[in-house]
Amino acid sequence: MKDKLVIGNWKMNGNCEENQRLLAEALPELAAVTGVEVVVCPPFPYLAQVGAQLQGSPVSLGAQNVNAKERGAFTGEVSVPMLNDFECRFVLVGHSERRTLFGETDEMVAEKYAAALSGGVIPVLCVGETLEQRRAGLAENVIVGQLQAVASRVGGEAMAAGVIAYEPLWAIGTGESATPEQAQQIHGHIRQWLAGQLPSGTASPRLLYGGSLKADNAPALFAQPDIDGGLVGSAALEAQSFVTICRVAQ
Ligand code: 13P
Repeated sequence: MKDKLVIGNWKMNGNCEENQRLLAEALPELAAVTGVEVVVCPPFPYLAQVGAQLQGSPVSLGAQNVNAKERGAFTGEVSVPMLNDFECRFVLVGHSERRTLFGETDEMVAEKYAAALSGGVIPVLCVGETLEQRRAGLAENVIVGQLQAVASRVGGEAMAAGVIAYEPLWAIGTGESATPEQAQQIHGHIRQWLAGQLPSGTASPRLLYGGSLKADNAPALFAQPDIDGGLVGSAALEAQSFVTICRVAQ
């Protein structure tokens, strides 16, 4: 079985001094966490700083976004080869904030996923439904649609090479996480959908839960059979909270 995976998504937070302090406090404790892969995703300008501080630690570097093109006249964008230059092992694709605030479509997300994979960076595909969609009974359909858009682009088998993060939009930054039962229900559905895509015997990719994931609700969420770790937002900005969540995943 693959190790659990906990990813801290710092979003547009931090600065040189805060990043340094956060990692100086968290890294010695994270060094003692076993059986869990830990990743932090700082904003682009801090990839070099954070990468340098992670040297010699078991924590990996990730990025929050990427452009699918390799290079060219795309002002303000960052490519997969650039992420490789900084030894980013993971990249989030299709985070709901990218989809809703920056107009990323399923097709764009699929291109990013494909580009990351072919460049050797592990894509973390974020999916999730709005509260309206959930109330209308559409959560599973929406999520399968988001997954299918990527599978159609890269082929179902390539879904095994990435990571999938279920982040219900109504749980992000609201302090109201999905209940363990709600999360497991969707994760179970995703696992079943994946089984239909992957050749039998292929190991399933890891399925992360995200959305107001905190030290206090992580134990019940991580105890669910189809939750293989977490994608942590605000709690990843506080060293002790993040360390506790990583420990819970052990
Ligand atoms: P919060 O943990 O702050 O709700 O954010 C979740 C998230 O969007 C992580 O990608």
